[in-house]
Amino acid sequence: MKKISIVIPMYNEEEVAKTTYTRIQKVLQELEPYDHEILFVDDGSQDKTLEILQEIAKENKKVKVIAFAKNFGHQAAVTAGLKNVTGDAIVIIDADLQDPPEVLPEMVSLWEQGNEVIYGKRKSRKGESIFKILTAKMFYNTLNALSDVEIPKDTGDFRLVDKKVVDVINSLPEHNKFLRGLFSWVGFKQKAYTYERQERLAGKTKYPLKKMCKLASDGIISFSTRPLKIVGGLGILTIMLSIAILIYSLVSYLFNLNHLEPGWTSIMVAITLFSGVQLLSIWIISEYIARIYDESRNRPEYIVNKKINIE
Ligand code: UDP
Ligand code: MG
Repeated sequence: MKKISIVIPMYNEEEVAKTTYTRIQKVLQELEPYDHEILFVDDGSQDKTLEILQEIAKENKKVKVIAFAKNFGHQAAVTAGLKNVTGDAIVIIDADLQDPPEVLPEMVSLWEQGNEVIYGKRKSRKGESIFKILTAKMFYNTLNALSDVEIPKDTGDFRLVDKKVVDVINSLPEHNKFLRGLFSWVGFKQKAYTYERQERLAGKTKYPLKKMCKLASDGIISFSTRPLKIVGGLGILTIMLSIAILIYSLVSYLFNLNHLEPGWTSIMVAITLFSGVQLLSIWIISEYIARIYDESRNRPEYIVNKKINIE
């Protein structure tokens, strides 16, 4: 019997944990003739999330739990989930059910038709702030302009993937994984599944601006080296600009065109412009160096504190 694994990252989701479990469980039970497992990854929640999950796992042995030692972030939680699944098809879904689990049977049938990555594509985003929608749009446009792989727009981590693809992802040694990019990068037979994104079941977003920026820079840096080329371009441009200024002042001096004092303004402009460009360049380069440092230290992406119903 084929088995479907569900991976759910959880961070301070006490308000939704029980409902999420019930709704997913119901969908899975109606999904004949497949076996299933539900793998919750508690990403160091400070509220009652883990206790609720432990209770659920006590009653239902098909529910597995991995608890982190602290908050390591959404991508790390999903990564840990993928490492511990045993199914033939793996579904990644958020705990707040903004992505409705009721569409699962359709995704499974697309998988049975031979598709290996079925990614959820949002037709609409209900109950999300204009700010979130705009920043998300900006992010995907920038990412696609800068990166070498096409990453589908309006796509989060909600997807169904074949075991084969998960094995490939698990074998990648890199840290700071930007999963939705990697799933697109690995290739295989990809298929979009369009659906309506719902409002959060309850509770607040666990993605404040700071975490969003981290995700965005991971996405851009790990999928593109073009920002480095932009630095080069900027450098050449400013050198050309300074040569032009030099020629201009030489010409004015030789032909006595105007009697500009060796001005305060031009010096200030030059200093600020060039130090600005330098700082910008250094910042971009240091982002890459920071990633290299991070990878070379080879610290684990997450630390597991406890596993329940997992050998
Ligand atoms: N999440 C997590 N660790 C974090 C932040 C979020 O595991 O540090 C989980 C969260 O519990 C949820 C999913 O990631 O299941 C997506 O988070 P959320 O719905 O808050 O993000 P949004 O939909 O607002 O982008
Ligand atoms: Mg959400």
